[in-house]
Amino acid sequence: MKIPFFKPQIDEETIKSVGMVLRSGWLTTGSITAQFEEQFAEYVHAKHAVMVNSGTAALHLCLAFTGIKPGDEVITTPYTFAATAEVIEYFNARPVFVDIRDDNLNINESLIPFKITEKTRAIIPVHFAGHPCEMNEILNIAEQYKLYVFEDAAHCPPAVYMGETVGSIGHAACFSFYANKCITTGEGGMITTDNNDLYEKAKILRLHSLSKDAAKRYQAEGSWKYDITGLGYKYNPTDFAAAIGIGQLKSADKFFNERKRVVEGYKKYLGNCDKIKVLRELEHVSSSWHIFPVRLPGKTVSRRDEIIEILKERGISTSVHFIPLHIHSYYKNKYGYNPDDFPVAYNAYKGLITLPVYPALKDEEVEYISSQLIEIIEQ
Ligand SMILES: *Cc1c(COP(=O)(O)O)cnc(C)c1O
Repeated sequence: MKIPFFKPQIDEETIKSVGMVLRSGWLTTGSITAQFEEQFAEYVHAKHAVMVNSGTAALHLCLAFTGIKPGDEVITTPYTFAATAEVIEYFNARPVFVDIRDDNLNINESLIPFKITEKTRAIIPVHFAGHPCEMNEILNIAEQYKLYVFEDAAHCPPAVYMGETVGSIGHAACFSFYANKCITTGEGGMITTDNNDLYEKAKILRLHSLSKDAAKRYQAEGSWKYDITGLGYKYNPTDFAAAIGIGQLKSADKFFNERKRVVEGYKKYLGNCDKIKVLRELEHVSSSWHIFPVRLPGKTVSRRDEIIEILKERGISTSVHFIPLHIHSYYKNKYGYNPDDFPVAYNAYKGLITLPVYPALKDEEVEYISSQLIEIIEQ
């Protein structure tokens, strides 16, 4: 068997709709983008949505909106992808890491208040693997200290926290449509928010901060005149990416149910080895199950890299989510971190393997992956 780590699923209708955009004469941000934004906002129960060309850009624009200054601080988790902290560094601000919880590997909300200073401007919680963070606690802290909360929702949708859909909880949520995310546009991202100011600002910032109707300047009703109103960015999406997004969004719930099927399969087959730990889905949340990390037991932790190699030899591609940011050269050298500065994150990383999860993954494949993993561990 040959099992890739991920397979995107694009249906024929979506391919046709991309073809229609390509033939339409309008390729860049336009009416199809607006249509996708409207549908996506509705899907996550947010008032507004602004599409950009990556999840990283979405996070970057949210911080730009706050007027963050060099030397300011933003609280986040070390257990995330490069993008989450990188966007803080862009402003010469400091990412202040808070260690994670051991049960779902999300930021440990109870440790956040200890890291707040007069320079703190925002909190960026990451819904790891699609499991929502403890948003009530995080929003209470934010309110007390007057901070923004921008959720890194790159591993969602759909995820639900205490009956609320991720995308309509914090001041804004940032989604990624990178090739292997829950839904994809190849590359792309989305900001969702109920905040009118953030919405208006993000739409301007994503296209060089050009004055409002400049986006129409190549259309019949547009004018050649524009004003650069501030420092902006080139983060606007194409209409053909938005067309892929519209097609993907139609399948988002179907994809979600298929991922849940895969996860149930893993729980069943890996249950035969009571030593392998999976992430705990807390009672008051529903995870999008974007990825399925498992944690190796006891002494097998030291064999993690070797186990990944053996799985590969047996045709199974896996990954590791994440190599915590504080052990990467850039952050280690800049801030002088030791691995054990964030011990829960470091220990989780050392013994973790992410197994494939995607709609096209068959039950037999899930069973094969599980049985191979158990066999290798018990060797
Ligand atoms: C994928 C990802 C991002 C960045 O998304 P891009 O669309 O690739 O820019 C941000 N945060 C996390 C946790 C991610 O996994």
